[in-house]
Amino acid sequence: MDILTSLIRDIPDFPKKGIIFKDITPVLKSPEAFTATVDGLADLVADMDFDLICGIESRGFLLGTAMSYTLNRGFIPVRKPGKLPYRTIQESYSLEYGTNTVEMHEDAVEPGQRILIVDDLLATGGTAHAAGALIRRLGGVVAGYVFVVELAFLDGRDRIPDAPVRSLVQY
Ligand code: AMP
Repeated sequence: MDILTSLIRDIPDFPKKGIIFKDITPVLKSPEAFTATVDGLADLVADMDFDLICGIESRGFLLGTAMSYTLNRGFIPVRKPGKLPYRTIQESYSLEYGTNTVEMHEDAVEPGQRILIVDDLLATGGTAHAAGALIRRLGGVVAGYVFVVELAFLDGRDRIPDAPVRSLVQY
């Protein structure tokens, strides 16, 4: 995964002071790196049993839909409030300052379906935890969580102990 670490770039103080943003756009732009990323994510979940892939807005869509295509699984989106057209359920979670809310269509998951959650980056785990909570409220089972980047020093995986957590690159 050297190609990933060489291309993921640090943007200091984005989107606010004190955050070092891990920018994956150079990875998306490189055919070799993007292919290695999607193939690497698919390898990480090869032993997991799941029916659908859930991607978290917005970079989770780029990776999740590519994985859906490769692995022949359907895709369901978790989005910011007000973006999904049909009836939704919401889950809110706390940030360092304030709260965030994410939504899913109320018919996105059938009871008993197993779902793989995908996002570009695991930081504190709040977003992934909220996505998992939406799936469980609809009667689904979280089969696993997979990320390109894990900021391991933030211990985000402690917040999502209900299923295996895998990542391609750790900082
Ligand atoms: P968290 O809920 O704290 O795990 O944050 C994860 C979500 O926020 C993911 O959707 C990431 O894309 C985004 N995110 C959080 N921190 C960063 C960071 N340092 N660089 C890039 N994206 C981040």
